[in-house]
Amino acid sequence: MTGTDTSRSDELAAGLMSVRRQIDRLCADVGREPNEVTLIVVTKTWPTSDVLVLAELGVTDFGENKAQELRDKRIECNSLQGTWHFIGQLQTNKAALVAHNADVVHSVDRARVVEALSRHVGDRNSERPLDCLIQVSLDPEFRAGRGGVEPAEVSALAAQIDDSAGLRLAGVMGVAPVGADARQAFSSLREVSLRLRQDHPSATWISAGMSGDLAEAIDEGATHLRVGSAILGSRAPLR
Ligand SMILES: *Cc1c(COP(=O)(O)O)cnc(C)c1O
Repeated sequence: MTGTDTSRSDELAAGLMSVRRQIDRLCADVGREPNEVTLIVVTKTWPTSDVLVLAELGVTDFGENKAQELRDKRIECNSLQGTWHFIGQLQTNKAALVAHNADVVHSVDRARVVEALSRHVGDRNSERPLDCLIQVSLDPEFRAGRGGVEPAEVSALAAQIDDSAGLRLAGVMGVAPVGADARQAFSSLREVSLRLRQDHPSATWISAGMSGDLAEAIDEGATHLRVGSAILGSRAPLR
């Protein structure tokens, strides 16, 4: 692995081990099994060499928030047997890139995005459907355009995903708003998930929790955690 210096590998190994321990401990605290939660390591802004080190350390799930960067990294890591999660806001003109390169999209939040993903998913070279999570706005003062659909709109969007060829409704995703009570935010996300599962029993995923609010997310039933800075360090400069 040329170009990867040992100190960076050590740093990533230490960060990963510390986060894994934290997850084990938080699960034990609330009587959950650590294998109920999938750790997605958010590698956005970090180089592909970091992705390769993480893969050697046993990471299987990677998160990216820019369509182009996802595509580039996926090409650069083409032998990697990982699962790639798209977690960023999705513009319809990037839907083709995302449909071709992601295995899971966490940020489905409007009808036009569903249409665009479904239109492009047919020509990716995978037999598997594209897993879709509905991003739910957890902001009590909902503002359109900030990512996430209002809880009241989830059921209509779910029905649309269900009816779309090549897409599978996997569950919900949420980001605790800055300055808000993360526990309260994730508790509303859990309620949205329970309601969704009445009509869509297999849509069990709850993607919640970042470096700063893992405890609240695990306590409120998160199945997928999206962790960047606690493992990779403070964000690298934007490219
Ligand atoms: C960047 C990002 C994360 C990871 O955040 P950290 O605080 O670095 O753990 C998680 N989710 C989304 C949607 C992100 O954009």
